[in-house]
Order: sequence, then structure tokens, then C-alpha cells
Amino acid sequence: MPETLYDWERRLALFPDTADLQGKAEDQRLEIAGCDLPELARQYGTPLYLYDAATMDGAVDAYRRALNEAYPAPLGITYAAKAFLCLAIAQWAHQHGLWIDCSSAGELAVAVAGGAERQGLVLHGVNKGQADLEAALAQAGTLVVDNLSELDRLQALVEGRVPPLPELWLRLRPGLSVDTHAYTQTGQHGSKFGMGPAEAREAVRLCLERGLPLTGLHFHLGSQFRDPAPVGSALAVTLDLMAALRQEYGWAPEIICPGGGWGVAYCEEDLPQPSIEDYVTLVAHQVAQGCRQRGLALPRLQLEPGRSLVARAGVALYRVGSLKQSAGQRWLLVDGGLADNARPALYGSRYTALPVSQPGRLATGPVSIAGPYCESSDVLVEGLELPELRPGELVAVPVSGAYQLSMASNYNGARRPAVLWLQASKAHPIQLREQAEDLFRRDLPLSFLTLI
Ligand code: PLP
Repeated sequence: MPETLYDWERRLALFPDTADLQGKAEDQRLEIAGCDLPELARQYGTPLYLYDAATMDGAVDAYRRALNEAYPAPLGITYAAKAFLCLAIAQWAHQHGLWIDCSSAGELAVAVAGGAERQGLVLHGVNKGQADLEAALAQAGTLVVDNLSELDRLQALVEGRVPPLPELWLRLRPGLSVDTHAYTQTGQHGSKFGMGPAEAREAVRLCLERGLPLTGLHFHLGSQFRDPAPVGSALAVTLDLMAALRQEYGWAPEIICPGGGWGVAYCEEDLPQPSIEDYVTLVAHQVAQGCRQRGLALPRLQLEPGRSLVARAGVALYRVGSLKQSAGQRWLLVDGGLADNARPALYGSRYTALPVSQPGRLATGPVSIAGPYCESSDVLVEGLELPELRPGELVAVPVSGAYQLSMASNYNGARRPAVLWLQASKAHPIQLREQAEDLFRRDLPLSFLTLI
């Protein structure tokens, strides 16, 4: 194979802010937050997920700074926990004054166990079960109503109940699309999420008639977009609805939330990184100016990002097992893939990777990185320029912090990976690797058959 240069430094820019190289040329290796990756892999095994605290903190600061500069009224940030949630992440969100958006009673339970307080807990969901609604009444500060039939079920539950009830927001479906994969669009006509304007008006009428604590309007157009223009249009739709509701019912929301969805760069071709500042500034100006134009009081503006807070902080570390060729295709087979990262199979998502040792070596042509699972879709990266890697070497996949572990499975008996929190040259385990016993912890034997 002829050796060529490849732009590994540009690839390095996708890694967490603290990523760097340590050691002398022949022993040069990737470090994050001052932690030696080969040492972490030796100690905790692979696949291994790493979260860099400084990168997450930096993303929160970027949101907060931009919001404070651009929005002249109360504001806040909610972390969309579906990106990744565990006790440590809930603690981190709480310590940073972030509210937490939960999608179920299960996520609420994790957030509460991580120290989140009622006021900062928001429950979403397109078809909340009885247990979800009960958990929201008991634990959440806000419940986002998705549809009229849910409102009826909620009404039946709250009758005769002693306050405090969670505040209610309505989830709107503005009928607009963001430029992203069809499976991650949520605000277009025909989407299963939220209410169209007529349904929302009826929901407001019913809430007021029933004396329910309706305080907010919400929409979320989708995830992993980098053109914010449709969010601006959806805000215009929302503000028009606000003006109509004020006229019709004398009601106006105290809070509006245009969801999350701001994208991140996953590979070199996606660079430069979509700017959090540009997105937040556009949203904040649209709300401020739109309210002034319509004579509406400025509501609290609550943003709800997930991916753009945690994706870039995460790195997945895999060990190379085998190398092979099939019909001219070169394969690098590693010890993780589909079970810890379903995004390539679900959405055709593209990733990149770097060797942990001597990433600056010359490349030897395109190679595809695939995992060990029994699915041809188990390919993490296709046709990537990489140096020659030998079995036993480590490969690091950047931008692995969102929608990977939260969608991880036990397919083929995969044990979900350990997760480390990296901060100030120290690695703290925040999730243990599953053990073989965890794979049948919920199982019950048939009592009339004998287990051998
Ligand atoms: N809010 C809601 C209601 C969502 O469904 C999602 C993601 O699907 C988000 C916020 C966060 O999106 P992202 O992680 O892309 O910022």
C-alpha cells in the first residue's frame, strides 16, 4: 500500500477541547483531559466511553453567554437527557443550573436519583403511559402535553389531587421541517409529535376552563440541523398563535421553549463546527423582536439542547481485533459498533476515527471500521484514510457523547460499555461495564423444566 499524508490534525479538532498528544514522536499518543488513553483502556477494557467534563462545561457556557447577551428577559437551559443520562450527568446538569428534559418515568427516576429538583424537571412524551403521568405529577415541575387525548387522561388523574401540580406546556407542531435525516424531523405536518394550531387552541380553552396551570408553549423541529432558519419561522408561527390566544382567551404563555436540535460536526467534512452563538442569537432575536412587533410581553425563553451539550465531549475507544479484505474492501474489525452506536445503522450517520498511538503516521488508503455484531449494518466508519493498524491497537471515535449509549443494546449478548468521566487528569468511572450476569438478571426459568 502506498503511504500518503492524511489530515489527522483536522480530525483531532473534532475531539474534546482537552484532547492533545503526549509522549515523544515514536511513542506519541492521544490524551484527553491529561489522561493517557492506552492506560485507561488497559484498566477499564474496551469498548470504553469517555466524557470530558471541560468540553461539556464549555458548551453550557457558550449557550449561557449567548443567551445572556441576546435575550433581555428571563431565560434558561434544559438538558435533553435523551442524548445521554446517568447519575453523574444528572448531577452535572443540576450543578450547572440546567433543567432536565425527561422522556419517561424511567428518565425522571434517574434524574431525581442524580439530585435534580422538582422545579427543574420537565416531562415530555408523545404517548405518556399512566406511570409516566403519575411520575410527572409526583416529581416534575413541568409536564409538556402532547395531544388532546392526553389532556383528558391528565384531567382524570388530577381531579381531587392536592397541589402542587406540575405546570403545563403545550407541544406545538408548527408544520415546518429542518434540514436533517427524515427520522429525526419532528415538527413537520404529518409528524406524530405535538398539536397543530387548531388543536392547540382547543387545548388552551380546555386548560383554562378546567383551571389547569397552563404556563408554556413548546415546539421541537428535529435534531442535528445546522440551518436555524426554520426555527425562526416556527417561532413566527408560535408568536402568531400567542397573539391570537391573547385576543381569544386573554391568555399568554409565561414561557416558550423552541426545543433543541442544534447540530454538531461528526467528521472533517462537517467542519467548521456549527456555532452555538449564531443559533442562540437568531432564536433570541426572533423571540424578542417578534414579541415587540406583536405587542406581547417577553416570555421566559427556555432552550432545550441535548446533542450540542454532550456529543463532542464523548469519545468511544475500541481495540482492533482483526484485519481483512473482501472484494478490494479493507476492513478494520474492532470490539464495538452497532450495540453501542446504532446511529450509522439507523440514520446512515458518518463518523471519523484516529489511531490512539502515533496518529500522525502516514496513511495507507481507505479502510472501513466495523464491529463484531451479526448485522451487515454494523459498520462504524466507511472508507476512512488511516495508517496501517495492527491487531491490539486502539482506535478513538470522536463525537460519541450523544444518542449512542442512550440507544445502546445487548444485541448478540453485548455488555454495555463502561463510561469514564475525565476531569483534571483524573478518570472517574460513572457507569460500570455490564457483566454476563446482567444479561439474564431479569430472566426467570421455567419452573417445570430443569436447568442444567
Ligand atoms: N427536546 C425534545 C422534545 C426532543 O425530542 C429532543 C431530541 O429529540 C431535544 C429536545 C434535543 O435535541 P438535540 O439533542 O438534537 O439537541
